[in-house]
Amino acid sequence: MNALIDGTNGPWEMVIGLEVHAQVTSEAKLFSGAATAFGAPPNTQVSLVDAGFPGMLPVINARCVAQAVRTGLGLKATINHHSVFDRKNYFYADLPQGYQISQYLQPIVGKGSLILDMPDGSSREIGITRLHLEQDAGKSLHDQHPSLSFIDLNRSGIALMEIVSEPDMRTAEEAGLYLTKLRAILRYLGTCDGNMEEGSMRADVNVSVRRPGDAFGTRCEIKNVNSIRFVKQAIEYEARRQIAILEDGGTIHQETRLYDAGKGVTRSMRSKEDAHDYRYFPDPDLLPLVLEPAWVEALKADLPELPDEKKARLIADYGLKPYDAWVLVAEREQAAFFEAVARGRDARLAASWVMGDFFAMLNRLGKTVTDSPVSADALGGLLDLIADNTLSGRLAKEVFEAMIETGQPAAAIVEERGLRQVTDSGAIAGAIDAVLTRNADKVAEYRAGKDKLFGFFVGQVMKATAGKANPAAVNELLKARLG
Ligand code: ADP
Ligand code: MG
Repeated sequence: MNALIDGTNGPWEMVIGLEVHAQVTSEAKLFSGAATAFGAPPNTQVSLVDAGFPGMLPVINARCVAQAVRTGLGLKATINHHSVFDRKNYFYADLPQGYQISQYLQPIVGKGSLILDMPDGSSREIGITRLHLEQDAGKSLHDQHPSLSFIDLNRSGIALMEIVSEPDMRTAEEAGLYLTKLRAILRYLGTCDGNMEEGSMRADVNVSVRRPGDAFGTRCEIKNVNSIRFVKQAIEYEARRQIAILEDGGTIHQETRLYDAGKGVTRSMRSKEDAHDYRYFPDPDLLPLVLEPAWVEALKADLPELPDEKKARLIADYGLKPYDAWVLVAEREQAAFFEAVARGRDARLAASWVMGDFFAMLNRLGKTVTDSPVSADALGGLLDLIADNTLSGRLAKEVFEAMIETGQPAAAIVEERGLRQVTDSGAIAGAIDAVLTRNADKVAEYRAGKDKLFGFFVGQVMKATAGKANPAAVNELLKARLG
């Protein structure tokens, strides 16, 4: 992978930093008891706090705080035992308070890191700058009526974690891997469902370009991109747009842009606002948030095994290659499936079946591990028949296809269809003799030095045994006969 982009006067390098908004998994909102279910009818999950009524007081939801701390711990980050909620003031029709309660100078989580799992098996560390808690805004609906806009406040006040990365990424691919890894960590922790289509996770993408070795260039920020594919496309487009301007002698102005996925372009939205435009100040309705160290320690002790740790364990326990281990670990259900198949069996065989034929089948059927027509037990049963030599690899594939179609266990299919492989050397030798007799001319050619014919004989013997002969035995016996 070449990280640089060719320009007319030499190469350019992209610099990318991501700000991810992740909706906290929680029954209630950050400062009110209203529900947070996705897809509820408009304005049915709104308390007076969320609607910004005068005199209403926010009350912090301990569950949301715990979720933010757990996410911070999952990102190997510093937990700030003292943090402050600020008002970030701006006007928007769907922001009834006239400000968003957020954290600015003193966020709940400080510096951490996230490891990218590169396809070549290597790793790259990306710095996490901070994570803070804030309220989501409501939603303006402009497409419901020809002349009116509607407002849905269901989302108003829902807890978001804003997770900010250092400008450490250098390619669109790395940005994609960052989001994939972050989503995996959030899902393992159960702190955000990571559904980008439902808007539970959205990314603001900061992109600049520079000549390798130069200082960072001016960045543009592409707001609210809602799929990993679009993030990568937006970065590629934006970097090339900036390079074209710079090579033309122009300058980049810091601004906020939008990605138009239909046209594949980014478009200017507004010039970049600065922090002072928001008149941040500590929210007088909320005391500083102080965390008991023992409470944080208890959350830490209770964390599940996370992707990096699980990956390391799969490599150590099962001898998997780093990238294979990551592919399995990327989704917790996949790793659990693999471990159920591998337990007490040849782990490499299990890995090659799970990631080979099994994943290919899921892909083909548009299914996931969770609704797979073949269970881990059933796949394990098939592998047992390979291990005890009942099935060759070739026959096993045939049995696997039948398992998908019929839902029957491997052993039953083998019995019913007589698919047991022939290992009996007498039977194989008989088949070999018949083939060699029938092809005396080819035998002579082979013996005269035409080595390539060996494959032909193997094929003929397999055909004569309806594909059931043990391939290793066929090879061995054929060599002996012809030698
Ligand atoms: P703001 O909150 O105003 O958007 P921040 O300083 O918090 O500004 O930075 C936001 C994001 O921009 C971070 O993810 C950071 O990594 C990224 N970033 C900062 N400088 C650059 C740059 N020169 N090029 C690309 N990304 C950058
Ligand atoms: Mg920003």
